[in-house]
Amino acid sequence: MAKCPKCGEEVAKPIKTWVLAPKGRKGVKIGLFQCSNGHYFRAKVE
Ligand SMILES: [Zn+2]
Repeated sequence: MAKCPKCGEEVAKPIKTWVLAPKGRKGVKIGLFQCSNGHYFRAKVE
């Protein structure tokens, strides 16, 4: 679940996810979300 930073709507499922892993650090899973108002945003996925 992620919240759109523009309109505050909550989006349950990301369109896609990937792992962001800086060298020597533990990776963070990032998701690309789209709310029903058409905003795209990235957020950390649990
Ligand atoms: Zn939105």
